[in-house]
Amino acid sequence: MTPFNKPYITGKETHYLYQAVQAGKLSGNGIFTQRCHQYFTERYGFKKALLTTSCTDALEMAAMLCDLKEGDEVIIPSYTFVSTALAFIREGATVIFADSQEENPNLDANKIESLITERTKVIVPVHYAGVACDMDKIMELAERYNLIVVEDAAQAIDSYYKGRPLGSIGHLATFSFHETKNIIAGEGGLLAINDERFKLRAEILWEKGTNRSQFFRGEVNKYGWVDTGSSFLPSEIIAAFLFAQLEELDNIQNRRKDLWNKYREGLQELADSEKIRLPQIPEYATNNAHMFYIICSSLEERSALIAYLKERGIMAVFHYLSLHKSKFYTSNFSLRPELPVADLYTDCLVRLPLFYELEMDMVETIVGDIVNFYKNR
Ligand SMILES: *Cc1c(COP(=O)(O)O)cnc(C)c1O
Repeated sequence: MTPFNKPYITGKETHYLYQAVQAGKLSGNGIFTQRCHQYFTERYGFKKALLTTSCTDALEMAAMLCDLKEGDEVIIPSYTFVSTALAFIREGATVIFADSQEENPNLDANKIESLITERTKVIVPVHYAGVACDMDKIMELAERYNLIVVEDAAQAIDSYYKGRPLGSIGHLATFSFHETKNIIAGEGGLLAINDERFKLRAEILWEKGTNRSQFFRGEVNKYGWVDTGSSFLPSEIIAAFLFAQLEELDNIQNRRKDLWNKYREGLQELADSEKIRLPQIPEYATNNAHMFYIICSSLEERSALIAYLKERGIMAVFHYLSLHKSKFYTSNFSLRPELPVADLYTDCLVRLPLFYELEMDMVETIVGDIVNFYKNR
């Protein structure tokens, strides 16, 4: 069986885990955590980086930092993971779902302005498959209407918009190191803070509502309970694992891009004959090869393709179910937006296996099977 994903272990992880154990400090914010923070701020220019135990946690921190009041509105694409919306709903916000673009599942920046009201406080662009949303347009709207932008960059490590790293453009940004992402820590995440006004409070939320970090820097002479928060910081074990992955980031990205390009070349003919659609990467965006997907013409066709590949030992999977139609949203909110493009991706998008150890020959086999599937269609 060819799995959909296989976590890649570089080999350095156990070495750093051993070092973390030897150092005798296993709780959070030790040497490996600081090394990871430094890596992110230096390489991507984030003003501040805080490791978290998941991207969900980082989104929750971001939502807390936005200081929302009951009924404040947050604009989020419907075609995304649950956590993007849930983090803001937990703070009492009303989520307003936006539709996706025709060329890729990212939220359509041209459709945002019509959703802005007096209650709008935040926009959350999700860089689907690691491909940038149109950030200039989004940041311009944010400035004009005084909104906070939180980039959900869960899938977007080492990807760029007009040469700028994703996660460095919004006021806040979140990343995931879940085992299905490009670089992993089992479960893990990161909050990137690019706006000075959030720096201090982020640290406090991270450390269970205490000013512990300031105390250790000698900025205050007592440490205590000063705000809300939670235990968002991961242990040194997770940071040590992640650091090994960061050291191999370029190698991992290159391998994934080679596999991605192989799929793309192999499937181009099917796209040319309009049997399927392939990922579209806008001129302003790079590809970090987080995901290779194709768009079928109907739900029936997609189900048949997934079954056909499964019979041949290949695990291809569909992705998000648009959140505006979810049980949770429809039973808690009376809004019923029409989002036809998000619905189309819900029904028609299929993700193909893509992981470091996938063999090039296997990509050829998968491409061959897909071509065969479409022979009689
Ligand atoms: C993976 C993912 C998340 C959640 O990440 P966790 O680290 O598993 O919490 C959130 N948003 C998007 C877009 C994702 O792809």
